[in-house]
Amino acid sequence: MNVAPSPNPARTVVVVGAGIVGTSTARYLQRDGARVIMIDPLAPGRGTSFGNAGGMAVTEVAPLSLPGTLWRVPRWLMDPLGPLTIRWSYLPRLAPWLWRFWRASAPARVEATATALASLLARAYGDYEPLLVEAGIRDLLKRQGCISLYESEEALKEDAFELALKRRHGVRIERLGPEELRQMEPDLAPIFKAGLFMPDWGHVADPYRVVAAIAECFSRQGGTIKEARVVEVEIGAEGPRAVLTDAGERIAFDALVIAAGAWSAKLAKPLGSKVPLETERGYHTTLPNPGVSLSRMLHSAEGGFVLTPMSMGLRLSGTVELGGLDLPPDYARARVLVARAKRFLPALDAEGGTEWMGYRPSLPDSLPVISRSPRFANLFYAFGHGHLGLTEAATTGRIIARLVGGGDPSIDLKPFRIDRF
Ligand SMILES: Cc1cc2nc3c(=O)[nH]c(=O)nc-3n(C[C@H](O)[C@H](O)[C@H](O)COP(=O)(O)OP(=O)(O)OC[C@H]3O[C@@H](n4cnc5c(N)ncnc54)[C@H](O)[C@@H]3O)c2cc1C
Repeated sequence: MNVAPSPNPARTVVVVGAGIVGTSTARYLQRDGARVIMIDPLAPGRGTSFGNAGGMAVTEVAPLSLPGTLWRVPRWLMDPLGPLTIRWSYLPRLAPWLWRFWRASAPARVEATATALASLLARAYGDYEPLLVEAGIRDLLKRQGCISLYESEEALKEDAFELALKRRHGVRIERLGPEELRQMEPDLAPIFKAGLFMPDWGHVADPYRVVAAIAECFSRQGGTIKEARVVEVEIGAEGPRAVLTDAGERIAFDALVIAAGAWSAKLAKPLGSKVPLETERGYHTTLPNPGVSLSRMLHSAEGGFVLTPMSMGLRLSGTVELGGLDLPPDYARARVLVARAKRFLPALDAEGGTEWMGYRPSLPDSLPVISRSPRFANLFYAFGHGHLGLTEAATTGRIIARLVGGGDPSIDLKPFRIDRF
């Protein structure tokens, strides 16, 4: 492999995708002196980044695929209110991804993944700080921690491996009994055997507003946003040199960043990189007048969903639906969240809730791709952040900007390479 020197940062960079990852990347590239054009058929933040749970999940160093995870799957699938569902018509296409997902649970690989995730997550708050401050939205970030709620001691025991892994990586976890839970969150039903408080979690009060405000800042500083879909990347004698859009436009660049979330694999393939990117579809219901008040994010350990107090109401979100990019949403999944949450918060008022589905861009080893193309020196990838895209976006943006500019991102990027599969 022969990788040429990096382009001059003052030249033109096109970023495909205006989710939280693309927008953070565009802003960091711009801060480093590049002329940046961000392209997306949707307005910034209207894709998956619109409706996530808002969690700054800096403690989540454990990959999703852990030793024993697979044995829990049948139980999850059989529970209509459970955390996982598979659209069976999609199973044949999913099988290779599931195989890789299972292989990622080997203990040595889990350790390596946790080390890689920890290296990204440790930088999350620091890398967001300038983006939030310059966009004037520092107040949207709340650092009040998160409590994982356990309805049974058995569930707590099942999580022992994951908790030990987190503690080995320095994650602070404090066990709470029923009385402490009642004091910290008085609206909770007295149905929990234990809570695990992780003080280092944070959340944002409006994930869409975070993207929109960073994008507005990007525009104010001279960045260009084009509402169009990239349909092709033109490759010249020296490598990629322009994108063609569905609006019939040809936009030339010196460097290109693919940050198109769950749709990135389709763009990467003709550029020589085949990646096992799938989508873990997730749902939310946001309740505008919930009638209860939470002081921080809550996580249902058994139910696989979270409750986040946001500026527009209480957001119930999570669960995983494996069903690809084309099948229609099944909003019964969003209603399941309300049924579950009502058990937790007996006074919950579910009137007027809005439902939403998004496409988590997920690689089977729970690590994103943050990488230069192995084939072209001016092509970069930033996608596949799965459950942690909000948390990891600013760090991804800072790293990609350094790579594009030829600087040292001061982090080991081997685990995030696009050609690791
Ligand atoms: C229910 C749910 C809860 C979540 N909770 C959390 C959480 O608490 N914390 C956390 O860190 N993460 C969370 N996530 C994950 C997080 O939302 C995602 O990882 C993140 O939004 C991915 O960002 P992105 O910018 O890569 O993708 P997106 O936001 O999907 O942006 C990709 C953009 O690329 C555009 N695009 C696609 N194809 C093209 C093309 N050909 N040309 C131009 N543009 C294109 C799309 O239109 C889209 O706007 C959650 C996800 C879900 C679904």
